[in-house]
Amino acid sequence: MHIAALISYNYNPSFQAKIDTNYFHKKALSWNLGMIARTNPAAVENYFAQMGVWAGFNKGSGYANKFVSYCCLKAAEIFKQLNFILPPKIELEDFRNFNLDSGTTGVCFFRSGGDPRTPIRSVFFNSFAERAKKMLRGKQVEINWENFPLIAADAKDNNWLSSEHYLAPFIHEFAHNLHYHKLYSKYGCPEPNQGYVFNPAVDYLLNKLNEPIAQNNPFVPTSLAIFINDNVGKYAASSLPETFAEIFTQKIVKNLDLFNLKLIRNPFENSSKNNTLDRILEEIWEGLIGDNQGLIR
Ligand SMILES: [Zn+2]
Repeated sequence: MHIAALISYNYNPSFQAKIDTNYFHKKALSWNLGMIARTNPAAVENYFAQMGVWAGFNKGSGYANKFVSYCCLKAAEIFKQLNFILPPKIELEDFRNFNLDSGTTGVCFFRSGGDPRTPIRSVFFNSFAERAKKMLRGKQVEINWENFPLIAADAKDNNWLSSEHYLAPFIHEFAHNLHYHKLYSKYGCPEPNQGYVFNPAVDYLLNKLNEPIAQNNPFVPTSLAIFINDNVGKYAASSLPETFAEIFTQKIVKNLDLFNLKLIRNPFENSSKNNTLDRILEEIWEGLIGDNQGLIR
């Protein structure tokens, strides 16, 4: 056969077409799943110990320990890129021990409540030891770390979370840790803690911040609640700390190299007073609530 017969003269490339992100999403996911399979959770615990962070990745299945330690490592590297503080403690835990819903992925404790297991700003991820299931694209799927990339993508499809990426819940909990560090540094800490000035009055600020948005929240006008729901997600519209963590996470994920999971650029350096999401993020970050000004009143 003559070579010319193989060439289509209808070939018409478009330089204006959008980049095929889906192709690299899939490649990057399988590349990272390969890395996860080779992760040594004990080595990740040592990595954290060297940075003064107590980490425990041994209470889950073999795969859960690998998956969660790898994602915590990647989230920590992103925080190091931005010079942000890390949680003092990170652990994979059976969430039945905290009386949390079996489907909850992670939690950040903004109060220790005097419990030495849960120091202020400590972050925990569910070992999913309780074998809960959920409907996913018409199929009953067990909630576990093996299925997590699919579960995360589904949460974005349903406008529940702000990002489809499996790393998002890790960045989300780390973001709570950063936010509470900011608030306690600025206003004081509601319980005695060696890192902050003790100020019991900060409880009032925390109560205002944590008021559910849906139930006629006096600080969040309905139009703003709808904006958050439509532009960030339903979970972001549940309370202001969740709004903060979800906008923060969305910004990080949008600026991530999908293969090595490091930031390509600083997502916060060009934040603008004219951008509504940036303004919401800034007001929650600063704890500007109950002041009758700004977007959050
Ligand atoms: Zn949260």
